[in-house]
Amino acid sequence: MPAVRESAPSLPAVSQARTAVYMDTLVTIEVVEPAPDDVAARIEAAFGWFARVEAVCSRFDPESDLSQLCRQPGVEVRVDPLLYRAIEFALSVARASGGAFDPTVGRTLAAQGFDTNYRTGERTVSEAAATGGLDDVVLDASARTVLLRRPLTLDLGAVAKGFAIDLAAHELRGCPNFAINAGGDLYLAGNNPDGEPWRIGIRHPRIPEAILTEVAVSGVAVCTSGDYDRPRPDGQPGHHIVEPRSGRSASGVASVTVIALTAMLADALGTAAFVLGPERGIAFLEAQGVDGLIISADLAQHATSEFHRRLV
Ligand code: AMP
Ligand code: MG
Repeated sequence: MPAVRESAPSLPAVSQARTAVYMDTLVTIEVVEPAPDDVAARIEAAFGWFARVEAVCSRFDPESDLSQLCRQPGVEVRVDPLLYRAIEFALSVARASGGAFDPTVGRTLAAQGFDTNYRTGERTVSEAAATGGLDDVVLDASARTVLLRRPLTLDLGAVAKGFAIDLAAHELRGCPNFAINAGGDLYLAGNNPDGEPWRIGIRHPRIPEAILTEVAVSGVAVCTSGDYDRPRPDGQPGHHIVEPRSGRSASGVASVTVIALTAMLADALGTAAFVLGPERGIAFLEAQGVDGLIISADLAQHATSEFHRRLV
């Protein structure tokens, strides 16, 4: 008689998830078993990085290190290491993108109504005429100082969220499987509760609930910038990603999704590619060695040459 074999159905692994609001967006951290005993404390510490990066890098909080820096043009200001890193990184993306990415767009954005602190409802006080540009931000790595040679308003909105995701992911390094989702910008480690690579839907930019395509990923960040994310608060047509030279909303692209090893990179390169437009954006992402998908305003899909490997 053949031996009776028991085949146990493989059940999804148990996971712990918590959601909180940071950076004007919902942040969810999900840890899938096996997890260390102190997993709750680790999730707490991971959220702490969102609070910390926001406190340092927010343009909407007059007390943030960033706001304090912007109130001191002409002065070499020694800044918090996180702020130094974020500005240094933003400037490197600015140079690599030929100025399509530009962290000095803060004043333009504020003038379009992006000037309200989502927690307090208070509006940021506009500084005296801001005239500076990229070349007016001078860094000294050894002294960890930033000098704004002219008055300007820095905006780290395309960097800070990714930065916080990376710091949170580092905090969870003792957990083999987890997902951090900050308003659609993600970092995925290990496997999902089914024991498989995480499957991430890329949404249709014009049909809110529709998924255009799906990628399967692990050990990477997936960040998306969409023209649907944040409409201009002043009632004018347009959104939150500006073409720095004209000051208008970048118009050739509906959404960009970038897959990279860190979320700070995926976040910033996606914003840069958005401004560059479909053709130059894809060439830029290829040159930076990351995978990406750009949906142009006419809804055509433009992908880097290796992107298809990620598709489900
Ligand atoms: P994301 O959320 O990654 O799509 O980035 C959009 C955010 O980046 C905006 O909310 C602004 O804070 C900032 N931003 C807008 N335009 C630019 C630009 N041309 N270069 C750098 N940052 C920008
Ligand atoms: Mg971005």
